[in-house]
Amino acid sequence: MAKPNLTPLEDALDHLLSEAPVVAQIETVALADSLGRVLAENHYVPADVPPADNSAVDGYALRKQDLHGDRPIPVSARIPAGEAPKPLEPGTAARIFTGSEIPEGADSVVMQERIEVTESGILVQAEVDEGQNIRRRGQDLTRGDLALAKGTQVRPNEMGLLASMGVARVAVLARLKVAILSTGDELVDPGLPLGPGQIYNSNRFTLMGLLTEAGCEVVLCETLRDKREATRETLQRAAEAADLVITSGGVSVGEEDHVRAVLEESGSLSLWKMAIKPGKPVAFGAIGGTPVLGLPGNPGSVLVT
Ligand code: AMP
Ligand code: MG
Repeated sequence: MAKPNLTPLEDALDHLLSEAPVVAQIETVALADSLGRVLAENHYVPADVPPADNSAVDGYALRKQDLHGDRPIPVSARIPAGEAPKPLEPGTAARIFTGSEIPEGADSVVMQERIEVTESGILVQAEVDEGQNIRRRGQDLTRGDLALAKGTQVRPNEMGLLASMGVARVAVLARLKVAILSTGDELVDPGLPLGPGQIYNSNRFTLMGLLTEAGCEVVLCETLRDKREATRETLQRAAEAADLVITSGGVSVGEEDHVRAVLEESGSLSLWKMAIKPGKPVAFGAIGGTPVLGLPGNPGSVLVT
């Protein structure tokens, strides 16, 4: 059981989600630029996929009832993928390829490995089940079905699905604007020499990576000195520029931990300390109506929380 002054993780998550910033602005992007974005509208299937019955294999399309023992069947047509076939002449077979449309009149496809080609036609060397090796029209997507719901994040498979429905431009929510503030007098940017007592700022990059991966836009990224006034000024400025402010460090109980104090003095603090380890001293509140998530400074805690 959680200690009385620690908020259980589930309750903390519920609270954070209830206070989460909501993006309402919609923009349209090219499908090629949609990775990681969030769909702003439902997508319904405009036409059946596949658009017609087609062959699942390279082989021969025929009518099962035309098979009579080991009598060869003449081949009357050749149907490459991408061509609309003529109806199949009764008593004959059509050479067909994977993805080629099934001609009217054919009800089965025999894969070429099961066929012997003779001078007078093909010999089928296997049992044939009516309908075999045919992909049915609409079996992947049926016209009118909901393909992707509003709010879905676009991953590579959604990009492919949208393309398969002929979508070239996509309405997506604007990216959530996030400010990253790293607190700590000891922090130095990578690339600069380290002085005594200093460490490199790694949290900034962990957070940048996590936020970018989540589809957010990092609009402000600053390192904050451990001073109450500087913390207040920067938090207020960040809250104006962003939909969400994330800080690291400065939320413990030391006298140089100003983030939580500024939230209490100049905004609001609605959560402090979650029942998890690492990552206990998480603070959450708001400044000027913008939610502020105060993460602990320890890099492991940042990644976890
Ligand atoms: P704090 O919560 O500010 O007391 O920080 C806890 C620990 O995390 C201290 O050892 C800090 O030096 C370290 N720390 C704080 N911020 C960062 C940062 N941005 N990158 C790497 N380590 C940090
Ligand atoms: Mg600190």
